[in-house]
Amino acid sequence: MSLSSLVGQPLAKRLFFKTIQRGAVSHGYLFVGPRGSGKLYAARNLAKALNCESPSAEGDACDRCPSCRAIERGSDPAFRVVTGEGPRIKIEQTRALVADLALRPDGDRRKVYVIREADRLTPNAANNLLKALEEPPSYGVLILTTDNPATLPGTVLSRCQTVPFKPAPLPEVAEIIVRLTGAPAEQAAQAASMSGGVIGQALELLTSGRLNERLELARSSLVGLGRADVLERVDFVERMAQYGEDRERLAELLGDMASLYRDALLMAVHPEHRALSGRPDRDLLAGAAADYGVARLTRAVERVGRAMDGLRRNVQPRLAIEYVVLNV
Ligand SMILES: [Zn+2]
Repeated sequence: MSLSSLVGQPLAKRLFFKTIQRGAVSHGYLFVGPRGSGKLYAARNLAKALNCESPSAEGDACDRCPSCRAIERGSDPAFRVVTGEGPRIKIEQTRALVADLALRPDGDRRKVYVIREADRLTPNAANNLLKALEEPPSYGVLILTTDNPATLPGTVLSRCQTVPFKPAPLPEVAEIIVRLTGAPAEQAAQAASMSGGVIGQALELLTSGRLNERLELARSSLVGLGRADVLERVDFVERMAQYGEDRERLAELLGDMASLYRDALLMAVHPEHRALSGRPDRDLLAGAAADYGVARLTRAVERVGRAMDGLRRNVQPRLAIEYVVLNV
């Protein structure tokens, strides 16, 4: 694996190759994009490219030399990943990083550090990194990754070059999934669509068997809640709470629900819309369009969106679920 095979991120790829070729690699990066969009993959392969013993003409890693192989295995001091212990990344962890960064590597090797989900840095831990970002040793590269840059301190943001990671076009994601997993095309397309074009999430959905569970739950919310009474709604809260114990899983489920409710709204307003033609769940959307009507679907889309915002701001998962299910 190398930077060339980073999929769906043409902008990031161009930027890396340009900076490698010019020898102008930045000392602080902020990779911003959804979980599963290739941020860690890009960071690891950037570290490989910077340390490769026989890079390509473009500057990409060879993926075969001892350095490339050691970094891929995770056994090379040239590439270190810091992840939160519990919900936060603590100052002890950034202190250890700063101490390790001070150790000069052999020859002209570079040391690349990744801080995953940097929005989880405690204020002290973030402060502790500032000097390393401000006056890094020539061999040091710090990469912060996040899907939520707004919560990072401005002092950190201003010292990093931002690299956006975006969802990829769905057909491209589906094609890659077929190539990587050999899954049937229809299943790959479904996973691509439910992941919103985020390859890592699409792969995870397929391999974990969660694809069907999530899809089924999102669909039964649309169908079931159209005519549900209060007791049925309370039951549905339980089903969702069980599935969505983990905030991330719940966020994904709400994302699917938002997209289904939007499609049902589209069906209610423009039944002949091009985006709806040929969809296997056409009948389901038409049924929901009739059950809910335009005004209620509009409110449902808003509610699900607000619940997703709430989750991001640390609202209790159960409250977010009730906010949607008891009111759509
Ligand atoms: Zn190599």
